[in-house]
Amino acid sequence: MFEQFKPVPTDPILGLMAEFKADTNPNKVDLSVGVYKDEHGDTPVMKAVKKAEKLRLENEKSKAYLGLAGNTEYNDLMADLIFGDIEPLKQGRIKTAQTPGGTGSLRVAAEFIKRANTDATIWVTGPTWANHFSIFHAAGLETKEFPYFDFETMGLKFDEMVATLKTVPAGDVVLFHACCHNPSGLDLNIEQWQVVADLAKNQGFTVLLDSAYQGFGSGLDEDAAGLRLLASQLDELLVCASCSKNFGLYRDRVGAFSVMGKDADSASVAYTNALSVIRAIYSMPPAHGADVVARILGNKELKAEWIAELDEKRARINGLRTFIVEKFKEHNVPGDFGFIAEQNGMFSFLGIDKTAIQRLKDEYSIYIVGSSRINVAGVNQDNADYLAKALAEVLK
Ligand code: PLP
Repeated sequence: MFEQFKPVPTDPILGLMAEFKADTNPNKVDLSVGVYKDEHGDTPVMKAVKKAEKLRLENEKSKAYLGLAGNTEYNDLMADLIFGDIEPLKQGRIKTAQTPGGTGSLRVAAEFIKRANTDATIWVTGPTWANHFSIFHAAGLETKEFPYFDFETMGLKFDEMVATLKTVPAGDVVLFHACCHNPSGLDLNIEQWQVVADLAKNQGFTVLLDSAYQGFGSGLDEDAAGLRLLASQLDELLVCASCSKNFGLYRDRVGAFSVMGKDADSASVAYTNALSVIRAIYSMPPAHGADVVARILGNKELKAEWIAELDEKRARINGLRTFIVEKFKEHNVPGDFGFIAEQNGMFSFLGIDKTAIQRLKDEYSIYIVGSSRINVAGVNQDNADYLAKALAEVLK
């Protein structure tokens, strides 16, 4: 059997990660991987998480099976975090299941969509997080891109996006990033979200929101504004959330899949389908990370501590965005990089070509993925001048 296999190339980002690790240059800079880093380049466990883990260790009473939906307290608390106090949640139209990370949630969403419509096409932003393609293709679904990011203006291709979405039929699914678009950092404003809501109503397509960075853009509620607008106006909605970044629980695999139906009954029926999808993939999610999140969100003090830590991360990223633009100016990096300060979350495109990216790696040990996406959080007081000078050299 194994003779049938051909080697699969390493994921480009994971490949860069390995190269970076092996690089002995003391000035090396990693701007590739999508993990939050502090001023020292570390990704420490959040303090609220450490406290919740201690409580968990002291209070855990059983390792018996959890059930397909995972931790139900977590599910309720996550629904509150994602949807706030919108009516559909109060009306029982939204049902949430714990999943292994945002990726697990997306995979469940893919199989769930396939059950409803085997011919559904998933429309994704051009460009999008590369794994979206693998996840939907793995479920046998077709993907198509709609215009989103404009590399000419480093802004949104709004008119082209609307024109394409006007051709999307009922039964198809349109995937948006709820906030902090990965890889561009460019989000819709509230008026643009309203246009998307109207398009979804008129065309009858289903919207799937990937919410992997709630709290990293402008704030927990602010980052969910577009999502809540859609949830308040549409009959149906799918949401895939991740706690990897905002709780720093990357390796613990904590996520959630929410289905919103036109009424509580249709949501319940849809939910049983999501649960049966889950049963056939991994049966039930792991307990640890979701229990930690539930202990944080369900405890006033821990929640306040977590929000303060999250606010700190966001403030650091937003401060870095202006800092990077200033440093680039100071070192005369050719071009206008002002857009970096306007965007949200951890990522932005530098918009530089492959030769410049290669030279940054070969000559300066600065690691950036091939699309020119940088992880803003990889920049700090110590490496910013080095980065700006190197960039000025390779773009000369
Ligand atoms: N969606 C987007 C847009 C992401 O950037 C990520 C992680 O990088 C995920 C989903 C999935 O995150 P995880 O599976 O680690 O929770």
